[in-house]
Amino acid sequence: MRDENCIFCKIVAGEIPSRTLFEDEDFKVMLDVGPAAKGHALIVPKAHYTDIYELPSELAGEAMKLAKRMATHMTTVLGCDGFNILQNNGVEAGQTVFHYHMHLIPRYKDGNEMILWKANQFSDAEMDELAEKLKV
Ligand code: 5GP
Ligand code: ZN
Repeated sequence: MRDENCIFCKIVAGEIPSRTLFEDEDFKVMLDVGPAAKGHALIVPKAHYTDIYELPSELAGEAMKLAKRMATHMTTVLGCDGFNILQNNGVEAGQTVFHYHMHLIPRYKDGNEMILWKANQFSDAEMDELAEKLKV
């Protein structure tokens, strides 16, 4: 469950240093080296999974529980005013490190704007068709 060319696998193995906030058998949480805001951290499973599609459901659930725990703790300690939890899959979605990870981004009242999108418009017929197609 390791990819020899993966930087996060090397960090998990202790071959590259990181500022670790939490660690257990399955996960490491560390500060991001290129933070979008003060305190930006990453939840990284120790085993190598490229993205959400490869990640086993059980670990996905554990990652989200850990995100809740970290977000609560970080908000208390940092006194931030909001919090983004996000996760990129694929180049087109902004993924640059191909070892699954979740971003924990504290947000501040006077912080820079980010993670905003312009709302698109699709016809009612298209929206109905999409909703039908995407039902599980
Ligand atoms: P992505 O764009 O794949 O969702 O996010 C990758 C994140 O990993 C980026 O925010 C980037 O700053 C961070 N990152 C890249 N290399 C390293 C590293 O060596 N150590 C740490 N702690 N973060 C890294
Ligand atoms: Zn890896």
